Amino acid sequence: MPNGKPIKPTSPLVGPIWETRLTQIMKNKAIQNDPSNESPWYSKGLSFECTQCGDCCSGPGEGYVWVTPEEIVALAAAIGMSEQQEEFERKFTRQVGELTSLVEYSDGDCIFLDPKSRTCSVYEVRPVQCRTWPFWKSNVKSPRAWSQAAKNCPGCNQGRLYSLAEIKTSLEKDNGDF
Ligand code: SF4
Ligand code: SF4
Repeated sequence: MPNGKPIKPTSPLVGPIWETRLTQIMKNKAIQNDPSNESPWYSKGLSFECTQCGDCCSGPGEGYVWVTPEEIVALAAAIGMSEQQEEFERKFTRQVGELTSLVEYSDGDCIFLDPKSRTCSVYEVRPVQCRTWPFWKSNVKSPRAWSQAAKNCPGCNQGRLYSLAEIKTSLEKDNGDF
């Protein structure tokens, strides 16, 4: 391999073999990154333990916390607004296309992040998106994506080891919006 660069074969016999090998490598990579794969790169599990830093619930950037109608009902009940469902939606949610997200404070913090304790004030009924972090499809699609998630979340690669089955259960709840 002179100059450190791979040489693409030019022989008509070797060329197709090169292409086939390349296709196979790409295919294997795609299979590895597919969460439905029986033995993904995280098949031995991944460690995670929340440090309660609150970073994933806060700004400064804009984010989305998607909520379903059922989650909205549960959240409204949790803060004593069962009878004021419409008011709850007006005050705490916003439409983003066909989806509904929780609103944020002007600094980007989630509206349900307690400003003093930096903890979730609706923890028991927090949306699935919050419950399943960090085991989202986007975070486990590759080791690199997981490392990126870990840069933003100090709980990744710490504490309890989540099994492949547990991670898959979490991924099944991610419909691709997270
Ligand atoms: S960023 Fe990670 S460690 Fe911090 S609160 Fe969120 S989940 Fe927990
Ligand atoms: S609902 Fe709770 S856990 Fe989810 S982003 Fe808001 S403060 Fe964080």
